[in-house]
Amino acid sequence: MKNQLPVLGQTTSSLRRDGHRNWVHPADVKGRFTSLRRWGFAALIAIYAVTPWITIGGHPAVFLDIARRKFYLFGATFNAQDFWLSFFLFSGIGFLLIVATALAGRVWCGYACPQTVFLEGVFRRIERLIEGPRSKRIKRNAGPMTFDKVWRKTVKHVAFVVSALAVAHIFLSYFVSLPGVFEMVQRNPAEHPEAFAWAMGMAGLMYGNFAFFREQLCLIVCPYGRLQSVLMDNDSIIVGYDEKRGEPRGKAKDPDAGACVSCSRCVTVCPTGIDIREGLQLDCIGCANCIDACDEVMGKLGRDPGLIRYDSLNGLEGKAKRFIRPRLFMYVVLGAVGLAVASYSLQGRTVYEANLLRQPGAPFVVTDDGDVRNAFEIHLVNKLEGDATFRIRSLTDDVELVIPLAEVTIGSLEGTHIPIFATVLQEDLDGRSAGREVRIEVALDGAPEETRVVTATFLAPGN
Ligand code: SF4
Ligand code: SF4
Repeated sequence: MKNQLPVLGQTTSSLRRDGHRNWVHPADVKGRFTSLRRWGFAALIAIYAVTPWITIGGHPAVFLDIARRKFYLFGATFNAQDFWLSFFLFSGIGFLLIVATALAGRVWCGYACPQTVFLEGVFRRIERLIEGPRSKRIKRNAGPMTFDKVWRKTVKHVAFVVSALAVAHIFLSYFVSLPGVFEMVQRNPAEHPEAFAWAMGMAGLMYGNFAFFREQLCLIVCPYGRLQSVLMDNDSIIVGYDEKRGEPRGKAKDPDAGACVSCSRCVTVCPTGIDIREGLQLDCIGCANCIDACDEVMGKLGRDPGLIRYDSLNGLEGKAKRFIRPRLFMYVVLGAVGLAVASYSLQGRTVYEANLLRQPGAPFVVTDDGDVRNAFEIHLVNKLEGDATFRIRSLTDDVELVIPLAEVTIGSLEGTHIPIFATVLQEDLDGRSAGREVRIEVALDGAPEETRVVTATFLAPGN
């Protein structure tokens, strides 16, 4: 049976037996899924390009300022201490991808993966515009080097380079802000070598990928594509060929033939160069081009569409279809647990950090008068959008505290260290000198509910 889950270890469709690459030149296709994808690509590219222009609370909506360890996400501010929260973000994305694959196969690859979005939404469209449809491209590529071939190839690659540079600079703006990018491009690259190297490196990678490597990234590099067979089951919705209806293939007028007329349109439109009639394969990125192509052929023949369609392997074999199945319950339970833990963790996120730390060096000092002194510092980090003023006072009676800076104002996502000197006079030293608690109150101006107490243990000789 051809319709079965793909197996790891299969060779790729674009690799010839002698190891050479089989260049894929997908033909143009029209249809409902193609239109849906085009609109989706346009929307995703627009979101990608417009987001750096949007500001919320005086900061870009998405700004990952790695150099200053400040991160702005849709009005929320984070600093390096909040990095652990990214675990929930990345594990949540991974989990959603697993669920989406189990339910709808490689829908992510076909509709939303940046590789597909930019390749199909930008670079292939440029190629089609300059070099024409598939048949002309193949003929020109196989032909001699003519003026027509040279100028078209040159213009195409210049357009590719410009597009790659644009995509890379937009990407850079998520890390240095849009004004930062505008400023950098007007200055000498030697003044910002890291950012320049990143932008050029990314643009180079994108150009190489979208101009030459293309589907090879999905077929060879991407680990997600290799994992699909373990994430899916026979009830996952995939792009599949209805073998029962299509076989045996034959001419349209042959009364004994199945619905497939062997026109190969489904193969020529495939961006990874596979024949979906050979069953579900690892190389299928679920783009649905073959559905639209075959529906068009069926329409011209006056036959029902859906010879290639979205269906489960069970559905394609005429068996009962199941959407609700045990793994779905498992995903719902795991998703609910993950959401609950993430919400709880986010609620526990504070608007500022306050830690009482012992200063490096000797744990205590005995003065000439016999008094014992400990040196601490309070490390304060303001995680609010704007400036914040903190007031610091001692709550300790049996330890004398000197707080040189009892009030301090800190900028957004800035931090400061305030030294604190704790002293126990000689006459007050007794067996419980060590173990006395240094207690300090930190109050945030205008937010009494955020008042916190930080503590440390006083150390003395013999304890
Ligand atoms: S497009 Fe449809 S009819 Fe043509 S070869 Fe493919 S499955 Fe057969
Ligand atoms: S087989 Fe069909 S759905 Fe899969 S990649 Fe090729 S055209 Fe897209």
